[in-house]
Amino acid sequence: MTLLIKNGLLVDPSQKLHDTCDILLKNGVVAEIGKDIKAADAQLIDATGQIVLPGIIDMHTHLREPGLEAKEDIASGTRAAAMGGITRIACMANTYPVVDKAIIVRGLKEQITKTALVHVEVIGAVTKGLEGKELAEMGDMAFAGAIAFSDDGHYVSDSRIFRAALEYASTFDKIIIVHDEDNTLTSGGYMHEGAVSTRLGIPGLPSVSEDIAVSRDTLLAEYSNARLHVAHVASAGALEIIRQAKKRGVKVTAEATIHHLTLTDNAVEGYNTAAKIAPPLRDIAHRDALRAALKDGTIDIIVTDHSPHAFEEKDVEFRYAPNGFAGLETSVGVIFTDLYHTGVLSIDEIVEKMSCAPARLFNIDAGSLKLGKPADVTIINPNAEWAVESSTFCTKGKATPFEGKHCKGKATWTIVAGRVVMSNGRLNE
Ligand SMILES: [Zn+2]
Repeated sequence: MTLLIKNGLLVDPSQKLHDTCDILLKNGVVAEIGKDIKAADAQLIDATGQIVLPGIIDMHTHLREPGLEAKEDIASGTRAAAMGGITRIACMANTYPVVDKAIIVRGLKEQITKTALVHVEVIGAVTKGLEGKELAEMGDMAFAGAIAFSDDGHYVSDSRIFRAALEYASTFDKIIIVHDEDNTLTSGGYMHEGAVSTRLGIPGLPSVSEDIAVSRDTLLAEYSNARLHVAHVASAGALEIIRQAKKRGVKVTAEATIHHLTLTDNAVEGYNTAAKIAPPLRDIAHRDALRAALKDGTIDIIVTDHSPHAFEEKDVEFRYAPNGFAGLETSVGVIFTDLYHTGVLSIDEIVEKMSCAPARLFNIDAGSLKLGKPADVTIINPNAEWAVESSTFCTKGKATPFEGKHCKGKATWTIVAGRVVMSNGRLNE
């Protein structure tokens, strides 16, 4: 298939490109970039007034397959990604069984080949069964194609085990992604500890639990000279620790989720289980610290932490609801509405954090539209107005704290390896 995208604003920080031009995709790669390209055999896409960027990469999702398909599966999750303009996702290991062996990585990759609509990277577990007691077969899993390792959802509380994990993964240059909340401080808590939790009478999750976990992990990464990536940072204190560690040359990187960048614990008012997440939505001081950290480079990438659950699981009393909600189909709309149109982030910064940097960090051949690079492309209409309506989602997890939100900005085309998988809200399977 040959695609010619005409007159879009091409934004690709990987080659310092920010210009209105055409781009030709041929045989699955970028074949030409320039003004007024002609190609008689190509399918034309008129991108006038729209932004053309290297396909969005989301390094933190939960696809729930194998074993938890009532929440999500590879088919539904990757269709949600395509609808959201996301061309590549990485899925976490907290499935049933847990992805903690090479044979499970291979099985998952086979299933991905059969049913995924976008690229999917597999993240393996750090410890067997995510139990924090014994290291998983990370070497075998890396050989089977796991891109990184994480016990996401759990903090590896045993420092000796975690040090061994860092040192083991560093022998084959893989990154450990950590969910940093010290669970001795968070057990029995359900939302950010602060004024709102006091008013609602919900036991709190103190931000210092993140700070303590992040300090230990950055210190161990420094001591072991290993690569560490801190998932979904939500605490101002943790950000300062990462900032200082980076200044010392520690090999630490970090991510922020779209919801931690845009919402606060006020979203929990009314005991809204759709806003229950770990780490929790914190107050505006933490949210603003996160935005500042995004600007100064302390935060490297933006992710969704798409964590779908079946409707009936979230439709319970606040404390019993599982953590997490769907994020793939709202991410572009929310980012553009709350961070782009408000002047917090430029389009170049958004593309850097959502496409170029994730590819660079995790050594993926993507995140760039240089000639010869894979033809993974997202097209965004920055002015398209729409309202979030979860009943229309492709994901099985309908809970979202953004329900009803009026958005300005929408992905209009998703192109994966030179093939259109979504155009103007319609999937092309
Ligand atoms: Zn997590």
